[in-house]
Amino acid sequence: MINRLYRLLQENLDPHKVLRDADILEGYSRDETPDMAAAPDILVRAENADDVSMTLKLCSEHKIPVTPRGAGTGVTGGALPVMQGVVLSLEKCNRILEIDRNNMVAVVEPGAVTGDIQKAALEQGLMYPPDPASLETCSIGGNVAEGAGGPRAVKYGTTKDYILGLEFVLPDGSLIQTGGKIVKNATGYNLAGILIGSEGTLAVITKIYLKLIPAPKVTLDILLPFDSLDQAIDAVHAVLMNRVIPAALEFMEQDAISLVSKHIQNTIPCADAGAHLLIQIDGNTEDQVLADLQTIVEAARINPDRMFVAQSPSQKERLWKARRSIRESIQAECGFFAAEDCVVPRAGIPQFVKDLKAYFHYKALRSVMFGHAGDGNVHIDILKDAIAYDEWKNMLPGIKREIYSRALACGGTITGEHGIGCLRKEYLPLALSSDAIDLSRRIKAAFDPGMILNPGKIFP
Ligand SMILES: Cc1cc2nc3c(=O)[nH]c(=O)nc-3n(C[C@H](O)[C@H](O)[C@H](O)COP(=O)(O)OP(=O)(O)OC[C@H]3O[C@@H](n4cnc5c(N)ncnc54)[C@H](O)[C@@H]3O)c2cc1C
Repeated sequence: MINRLYRLLQENLDPHKVLRDADILEGYSRDETPDMAAAPDILVRAENADDVSMTLKLCSEHKIPVTPRGAGTGVTGGALPVMQGVVLSLEKCNRILEIDRNNMVAVVEPGAVTGDIQKAALEQGLMYPPDPASLETCSIGGNVAEGAGGPRAVKYGTTKDYILGLEFVLPDGSLIQTGGKIVKNATGYNLAGILIGSEGTLAVITKIYLKLIPAPKVTLDILLPFDSLDQAIDAVHAVLMNRVIPAALEFMEQDAISLVSKHIQNTIPCADAGAHLLIQIDGNTEDQVLADLQTIVEAARINPDRMFVAQSPSQKERLWKARRSIRESIQAECGFFAAEDCVVPRAGIPQFVKDLKAYFHYKALRSVMFGHAGDGNVHIDILKDAIAYDEWKNMLPGIKREIYSRALACGGTITGEHGIGCLRKEYLPLALSSDAIDLSRRIKAAFDPGMILNPGKIFP
């Protein structure tokens, strides 16, 4: 069957877009998920919506699984073809079709790199705010499919808040357009809303209409050191209650600070602190930003001599490099680790982190926690260290269940931005009722009756 499909794909698409060489397939067998791999039988590198449509139509007719893939930076195995078949890569559909300044809309193909869209918008004085830490490499299609977020979510929201319209292809090959360059739309179901966060299981996105906003003229980045995480989160509350919403409000707990300062030398100021808040303030004038800074200093009751204000682009980079280098530092420290991204109500962060730390201590595990203090999204990385591989694999399910149960018990949920993919699917029933899962299955069946799109993901 696969051989026949390969022949048909070659006949119906440009043959150079359809690949089967083992070394090329190997390159598509991984994303950024630790310790997980699955190679496809065939790789299709689509260059336009027609290629996507033809691929899906032929795969549907032959009942062969198709896994859409953007840039492969996902961390829950979403782009891995766990049931083999075809990987449909959108990496070549990467054009920024238009930055429409008058309507403040970007029209882009799904493989466009998020950071490139931001730069193109900025050249026109506009801003595309969602900023996953992977923005220099991830694709906008992957962001939509994962519902990606980033540090700026506290002020500007996540990917879902910027989707005005989508063009997508159903598994039978039909092309659907919903929304467009319009800010309001009450016409029928919000089909784009259903696709956001659907992790490539419902349709393949081929064009995206993104809302842009005027870019702030001034930004200021500061690092506030605290003795404890409790103090840092109290400061977050005080800042927001004083009517300052920073563009970003990130926290790092002590173990995260120590690990980064160990591996990324000279990067992190105030490395002896119990917790850090990394804050970005933005606005239209320097006076406005400085007034916000003053409010923050007073609300957070911080000694101005202790805080670090980035005065130059290199100092700014120094601050954010520390935040972005956590993953790299953990890899340098021990190679293997498990990465979770629970969300809890913001005020619950200190207790959640403290309780988890006590649990990890009891289990003799090292962990690093950091995340988005403004929106309650806590990244929890657990280090394998010297634990034998088999033992580590055996203990992980129990540890995950414990983490998720604690997040749910304090009113949160099991993932804030990385999605379910393969890694969390058996835990979905902890977070969603059986009725909610049944409804989701019926939505899946309506889009994909042959169940060919990204099988093995989301559903337990
Ligand atoms: C260092 C690092 C930092 C990260 N930081 C963040 C962060 O701050 N915030 C955050 O949210 N995530 C973060 N991530 C995770 C990852 O970058 C995001 O999930 C991103 O949205 C994935 O985009 P991608 O193009 O790489 O998608 P892929 O990994 O290729 O695919 C992800 C999912 O999207 C589906 N998909 C991709 N393209 C399409 C399409 N056109 N149509 C339909 N389905 C599609 C795939 O099937 C898969 O299920 C980080 C990852 C790394 C490695």
